[in-house]
Amino acid sequence: MELVQRMQRHGTTIFTEISALAARHDAVNLGQGFPDTDGPSELIEAAKRAIDTGQNQYPPLSGRPELLAAVADHQRRWYGIDVDLSTEALVTVGATEAIAATILAFCSPGDEVVMFEPYYDSYAAMVDLAGATRRTVVLRFPDFAVDEAALRAAFSARTKLVLLNSPHNPTGKVFTDAELALIARLAREHDAWVVTDEVYEHLAFARPHCPIATLPGMAERTLTISSAGKTFSATGWKVGWVTGPAAAVAAVRTVKQFLTFGVGGPFQLAAAAALCLPDDYFTAFRDRLRGKRDLLVDGLAGAGFDVAVPEGTYFVVADAAPLGVTDASAFARELPARIGVAAIPVQVFHDDPDAAPSLLRFAFCKRDEVLREGVRRLARL
Ligand code: PMP
Ligand code: GLN
Repeated sequence: MELVQRMQRHGTTIFTEISALAARHDAVNLGQGFPDTDGPSELIEAAKRAIDTGQNQYPPLSGRPELLAAVADHQRRWYGIDVDLSTEALVTVGATEAIAATILAFCSPGDEVVMFEPYYDSYAAMVDLAGATRRTVVLRFPDFAVDEAALRAAFSARTKLVLLNSPHNPTGKVFTDAELALIARLAREHDAWVVTDEVYEHLAFARPHCPIATLPGMAERTLTISSAGKTFSATGWKVGWVTGPAAAVAAVRTVKQFLTFGVGGPFQLAAAAALCLPDDYFTAFRDRLRGKRDLLVDGLAGAGFDVAVPEGTYFVVADAAPLGVTDASAFARELPARIGVAAIPVQVFHDDPDAAPSLLRFAFCKRDEVLREGVRRLARL
C-alpha cells in the first residue's frame, strides 16, 4: 500500500536519521536535542511512586487533575495568565501531539497557516496532513529577524492560524517584543488565531520569555503549547499540554481523543510535581544551559564556523561556509564518520531547498565533558 500523497515528502525525520548515523560511528551526538543527564529527582521519584501505588490505568481524557492544576498554577506564577483548569487546559502526548491535534482541529484544505522558516519539522508535516497550505516567512542567519513586509505579505483572507515558536528551534531566536506585537497585530487584523509552541519557555537566556497570549487582545485567539520534556530534561516522557479559550481547547480535545485518548498517568503526576518546583530550579536550569551554550559557541567559533549566538533553546546555528561547505545536508551526513560529531542541517527545516545551504544546528544540552570532546573533534575540520 502506498503512503498518502500529501505525506510522501516527509520520509524519516532528520533526527532519526542523524541519531542512527551518530550511533553507527560512535559520534558525539549534537544532532537530536535531548539531554544526556536526568532531570530533577522530584520528577523521577514522583513517577516511581505513581507506578508503585497503582496509578496505572487510563487517566481522564483531559489529563490528571493534579497536572491540570499544576499547569494552571505555572501559567499564573510565571506569566500572570489565568487558566480555568477544568475547561481551558488539555494534557497531550508531548507538545508533538498538541501541535498535531491543534492543526488537525482547525485546518481544512484551502486554509493557510502562516509560519516561520526554518520551522520545527512536525509543523510542516501536520499542515500537509491537514491538507492546508503553508505561507512561510524566512528568518535569515545570523540575526533571524522578522521582515515586516514579508510577514504582512504572508497573511491573506485565507489565513487560519499563525504558528509561532519562541524561543525558536532550530535558530535559538527569542522573538522580540516588537516582533510579537507585530504578529499579534496582524493576527487580529486578519481574525486569525495564534498557536504558540513554548516548549523552551524556561530556556530564554537574555530576557524573560513573553507568551504572546499576554499581549492585548491575544488571550482570546491564542492556543499555547508547552511540555515537560525540555524544562525537566525528560524528552522521552512525552507529556505536554495546551491552554487557551475553552471552546478551542474543546475542539483540540475532540481530535486528541482519537489520536491517543490519554497520556501516561504516572508521567503526568511526575510532571505535576516538577512544575511545582520552586523558582530556583527553573533559573538554575536556565543558567546551566547558558553556560553550555557559551562552551559550544566558543568551540564552534574556534573551529572556524560563523556562529549566531542563540538567545534561547538547546540549540546553536553555525555557518560552515568559512570552512568551504556549500552543501550542509551532505556535510552533516559525512560528519559522524569523518570527525565523530553529529549535527543537523538547517536546510531540512525549510521549504526552499536552496535556503540555508551551509548552516548546521548543534545541540548543547549535553554534559560539559561531552561538549568539550565534541569541540575537540570539531577543531579537526
Ligand atoms: N516543539 C519544538 C519546537 C521542539 O523542539 C520539540 C522537541 N524538541 C517539540 C515541539 C516536541 O516536544 P515533545 O517532545 O514534548 O513532543
Ligand atoms: N525536538 C528535538 C530536536 O529538535 C527532536 C525531537 C524528535 O526527534 N522528533 O532535536
